[in-house]
Amino acid sequence: MSTAHHPIAIIGAGLGGLTLARVLHVNGIEAAVFDLEADRNARTQGGMLDIHEETGQAALSAAELHERFREKVHPGGQAVRILDKRARVLHEQADDGQGGRPEIDRGDLRDLLLDSLPEGTVRWGSKITGAGPTGAGRHEVTLADGTAFTAGLLVGADGAWSRIRPLLSDAVPAYTGISFVELDFLDADTRHPECAELIGGGMFFALGDNRGFLAHRESDGSLHVYAALRAAEGRLSTIDFTDAEASRAELAEHFADWAPGLRRLITDCDGLPVPRLIHALPAGHCWKRTPGVTLLGDAAHLMSPFAGEGANLAMTDGADLGRALVAHPGGLESALADYEAPLFARSGKSAQESAEGLEAIFNDRAPQPLIDMISSFAA
Ligand SMILES: Cc1cc2nc3c(=O)[nH]c(=O)nc-3n(C[C@H](O)[C@H](O)[C@H](O)COP(=O)(O)OP(=O)(O)OC[C@H]3O[C@@H](n4cnc5c(N)ncnc54)[C@H](O)[C@@H]3O)c2cc1C
Repeated sequence: MSTAHHPIAIIGAGLGGLTLARVLHVNGIEAAVFDLEADRNARTQGGMLDIHEETGQAALSAAELHERFREKVHPGGQAVRILDKRARVLHEQADDGQGGRPEIDRGDLRDLLLDSLPEGTVRWGSKITGAGPTGAGRHEVTLADGTAFTAGLLVGADGAWSRIRPLLSDAVPAYTGISFVELDFLDADTRHPECAELIGGGMFFALGDNRGFLAHRESDGSLHVYAALRAAEGRLSTIDFTDAEASRAELAEHFADWAPGLRRLITDCDGLPVPRLIHALPAGHCWKRTPGVTLLGDAAHLMSPFAGEGANLAMTDGADLGRALVAHPGGLESALADYEAPLFARSGKSAQESAEGLEAIFNDRAPQPLIDMISSFAA
């Protein structure tokens, strides 16, 4: 049986990989996208993303999707509220509708991109297990089902634990020292009115003692909350997160001296709390130009979420790589070199900002350093 060949194979149907496929498509170039998930609805996408004018929104314009994006924006989502551990509101900023960072539900954004691609572009249920060069810039890619294909251009858009990254770099993500636990509150105005009132309409922070709550209201009326701590990597591993009651109680112990209203953001949640350790690649991660393969998004520059840039950068990378390929027909290596130089500069700067954001949020004086940082942006 002959091995299938794809001139452009994108591994990963996240926001970055889909933006690349879309920008290529609007320029008359088709790519094959491979994703391990069984289908587009295999996993809820959860969470709101603020999409920045100069990065994520510019990428959506290149993808000819900006107008449709505006229709799906969550009104009021750019409001910011910052509290201390005693639940005193120390900073409040309304959403006047004029900000350059409108919020959208991550699932809505992914659907927008998926719906804009020709049927069959994404090969669901395709878990990539590895890839290796076959010469002349081509790669053979192996899948968990035992099949393989070759690619003229192989793009690793497969996120934090990329199977393509090892072709270019030895770097592996390291734990940042921050552990999140994700908590959901469904139909919040009716079922959790006090939590809904506390969090308000946009982004919410309650911070102190190197820990806190980061939360926001979603467009479906639910609340999405991260309880977050600066903690050793194994600190939460003693909690049995398959036991809802016990895990809520144990997690709440980490906030024992916090205001009761804030502790309810743990004890009153719906369903199971989900732990998420935050990892990052070294700031300034880069690689030598290697024929026929490149990376984008988290595969290239996984960073902590404290600059709110990861998804924006992934889409920017996708749009930039698409434009570089269009600008260099027949000149693949020139296109990749043109794509990678600004990518390294841009992502190095954002990784640094993310690391600074982490320090501004998790410290002994919190929430003041975050308030100072936000006020300095406004000024
Ligand atoms: C808690 C948290 C909050 C965040 N908040 C924000 C925010 O507010 N704003 C923001 O801009 N960013 C935020 N981010 C970062 C953002 O989520 C990521 O940077 C962004 O999703 C990266 O997109 P991507 O396309 O590179 O990768 P991903 O979205 O991770 O997509 C990778 C895709 O590859 C697929 N895949 C993985 N491995 C394989 C394989 N072996 N074979 C085939 N397919 C594979 C996956 O199924 C997935 O579909 C946050 C991150 C976290 C953890």
